Amino acid sequence: MAKADPQRSCLGCREVKPKGELLRFVLDPAGNVVPDLAKKLPGRGAYTCYRHSCLETALKKRQFSRSFKGEAKTPRVDEMLELVTGLQEERVVATMALANKAGRVVSGSDKVMDALRKGNVALLILAEDISDESAAKFLAIAGKTGVESYRFLFKERLGSPLGKDIRSVVAVEPGPFADSLRRELTRYGNFFEGGAE
Ligand SMILES: [Zn+2]
Repeated sequence: MAKADPQRSCLGCREVKPKGELLRFVLDPAGNVVPDLAKKLPGRGAYTCYRHSCLETALKKRQFSRSFKGEAKTPRVDEMLELVTGLQEERVVATMALANKAGRVVSGSDKVMDALRKGNVALLILAEDISDESAAKFLAIAGKTGVESYRFLFKERLGSPLGKDIRSVVAVEPGPFADSLRRELTRYGNFFEGGAE
């Protein structure tokens, strides 16, 4: 039988969740608190939700020192938020690149529209700066067919994980790659939303 994911509480909101759903932090040898998004760094972990607000609370209330039972050096709140955002963005980009390598990704307006019409899309990624008109066109058909959509990166950068130039829309076929991409994009989105509160 598979072992259940152990539970940990968020240093910000104190909610108890499975470790897999939380952001992990460890102390590096110099005593700095560092994010461990891949959950692979050695040592005891401390956890927060994937939310700006929880991480901010944990830092402001010096919860990391409490959790690590000693002086834990932390960067400024804005620096830490920027660091985690960047690392999570890298995880999304790496997952997109893997999905693309496996041949599960189509990009460019015509190809994406074609895939949507064929019902062969699990999730849709729209550039942050896609035109309202184009976004509406894709979201209309995605909505009708129950395809989830996410906003990620600007056009100039959205194509790079696929080895392409400017891309305003990317579609991912159903399957395990779409599932991991959904998880990473949701974490990315949730982290940002927390910051806007
Ligand atoms: Zn929390």
